[in-house]
Amino acid sequence: MKYFLPYAWLPDGLTSDVLLEVVDGRYTEVTAGAAPDDAERLPGVGFPGFANGHSHAFHRALRGRTHAEGGSFWTWRNRMYAVAARLDPDSYLDLARGVYAEMALAGVTAVGEFHYLHHGPEGVPYDDPNAMSAALVQAASEAGIRLTLLETCYLAGGLGPSGHRPPDSIQRRFADPDVAAWIHRFEALRPGPGVAIGAAVHSVRATPGPAIPPVVAAARGLPLHVHLSEQPAENDACLAFYHRTPTAQLAAAGALGPMTTVVHATHLTAADIDVLGTTGATACFCPSTEQDLADGIGPARRLHDAGVPLSLGSDQHAVIDLLHEAQALELDQRLASGRRGRFAPSELVAALTRQASIGWPDAGRLEVGARADLVVIRTDTVRTAGTDPAQVVLSAGAADVDTVLVDGVVVVSGGAHRLGDVASLLRAAIDPIWERSR
Ligand SMILES: [Zn+2]
Repeated sequence: MKYFLPYAWLPDGLTSDVLLEVVDGRYTEVTAGAAPDDAERLPGVGFPGFANGHSHAFHRALRGRTHAEGGSFWTWRNRMYAVAARLDPDSYLDLARGVYAEMALAGVTAVGEFHYLHHGPEGVPYDDPNAMSAALVQAASEAGIRLTLLETCYLAGGLGPSGHRPPDSIQRRFADPDVAAWIHRFEALRPGPGVAIGAAVHSVRATPGPAIPPVVAAARGLPLHVHLSEQPAENDACLAFYHRTPTAQLAAAGALGPMTTVVHATHLTAADIDVLGTTGATACFCPSTEQDLADGIGPARRLHDAGVPLSLGSDQHAVIDLLHEAQALELDQRLASGRRGRFAPSELVAALTRQASIGWPDAGRLEVGARADLVVIRTDTVRTAGTDPAQVVLSAGAADVDTVLVDGVVVVSGGAHRLGDVASLLRAAIDPIWERSR
């Protein structure tokens, strides 16, 4: 199959009149020049596939449901726990299928699913202890995007000055009894076509210090993700009990390295930034979530300057629009610094397409041999008309995504997902969750 685009974002930057040839899900030709007669012409600017570095699919059910009473991060979390309590493998399959289809419509070709909703009510394992993981794998397959299942080690309900608390009745659905039980489930997971396996340490709150090195060992060679310093309260608790920052706690456990992604990285010390810069770890920013939860603005530019690669995630899915996340990354830094242009468009594209951080190092570039992912953004919509194609990453949104290829397969065409009406899928999955709660 051959595609011809007026513009495409190649490894050297924006290039005009680009021919892409796809054979067996890989690019076999990427050249600038005239359009051959047998190429399908696509509109706008072609980008490599966007990598959604951080997702909790079930949080999508909370969109537009947590604003009435305001409250804090912790009141939001209670609402999230209420949704978690109502899902089972069948209803989670329906919800996640819609969420991943929404991601495809926004140009996401691979998602890192930070999965911690493992067990049945009161923590009773399903007959297949990985039944919820299997639902996510099936959902991504049906929605047409790759999934990196970041199986999360969650053992404690929280951390206070005197130590870790046991999980409460809702948290027991997230928790394994001990790290050996998590390893047992983790080692039963298998990668497959479009499915990669990784591990996650939930946080220094939910994963006690002695449990972290075994998780790191089990994940060797695979992506390892961890929530890091999203809230000042996490830092305070970690300092009070472990007498070091969460970053130092992870470093001491050997959890920081080139396969690691730290998520949020909002409240860091200068020493934390230096440590992260020496380890090769990626920092995944989730600006729409950090805004929604009033987390604060993390030191994105300082991390970048320290050598930390950046990625982006939609996390709790207050919006699913990776272009919005890229724009918010830049705009948050402007507000925090009083300076414009903290990240160049090319740096934002790099963050949008950092597929390696979720285990797809052969994706994220329009070049021969790479996985044939493609996101085509129209430059003739009411939002993008008049935009310089080199800056469309700062003006377009998910609604301007026209075509999405994942491993050479057309998943979105003309702005429509192959599953049809994704809004109906989401309504059918989410409305019953809230009806049952009345
Ligand atoms: Zn998260």
